[in-house]
Amino acid sequence: MKAVLAGLAILLAFTGGARAQTLKDLLKDTLIFWNKPTEPFKIIGNIYYVGTAGLASYLVTTSQGHILIDTAMPETALQIEGNVQKLGFRVSDIKYILNTHAHMDHTGGLAQIKRDTGATLISGEKDRPLIEGGYYPGNDDEMTKFPPVKVDRVVHDGDKVSLGEVTITANSTPGHSPGCTSWGLTVKDGTADRSVLIFCSATVALNRLVKNPTHEGIVGDYRKTFAWSKNVHPDVLLAPHPEMYDMPGKRAKIADGAANPFVRPGEFNAFVDQLEKDFDVALAKQTAAK
Ligand SMILES: [Zn+2]
Repeated sequence: MKAVLAGLAILLAFTGGARAQTLKDLLKDTLIFWNKPTEPFKIIGNIYYVGTAGLASYLVTTSQGHILIDTAMPETALQIEGNVQKLGFRVSDIKYILNTHAHMDHTGGLAQIKRDTGATLISGEKDRPLIEGGYYPGNDDEMTKFPPVKVDRVVHDGDKVSLGEVTITANSTPGHSPGCTSWGLTVKDGTADRSVLIFCSATVALNRLVKNPTHEGIVGDYRKTFAWSKNVHPDVLLAPHPEMYDMPGKRAKIADGAANPFVRPGEFNAFVDQLEKDFDVALAKQTAAK
């Protein structure tokens, strides 16, 4: 785990400058963690975890087929499909694939899973060219590339994706990527309704914020997302990286008759407050290095 955290720290600190090693070498341990299998399980209501130990993928089931959100790395597409089957669902019943953002650790499996299912692929409008080109803007490291795939539908803030009795709302939360989209839905937890937010992300990661920014208006985009998040109070926080919401710790607490450990009002706001602080530090650092 220590090595993994070191790898993640490198990923967060990586600025794309002169380097002797490729990003892939630097991320060796992180890649092992990202591709490590884990048992799929029911998170809450009709939402299931079907990702790897290190990268999330979510299945939202309905009576009319299913919705898959994010697809981890190219080499883990089969793992995700296997997880869907392990839970007793059919891969061919996946009708929609939604993406949070166009980075290779969440888009890698899109092309294969779309091919295998014939599902409709949906993303934020400004991420479409990245997904269709299979690249990270302004970064030519091989590691950041992924199999390109056609986006069938783009969404804007407030757009809805409906299937059977389920409606998922797109929230535009740009910054981490230009079309970063956080997906919201309500699920049943026993007799209670719980609001769930699958947050896109707002870490700085490989992004250049100032000189030759990764995308135009990136600083304003992050600010918009931080401002938006202050008025959003989901009962359940989910995210593309399981450690962002302590998935393993909560999963260990799932027990018959106990309250669902994934219901944690306030967790999202505390998380984003920290991300905003981290962003300010990164912005100051990048500005000083200008
Ligand atoms: Zn990302």
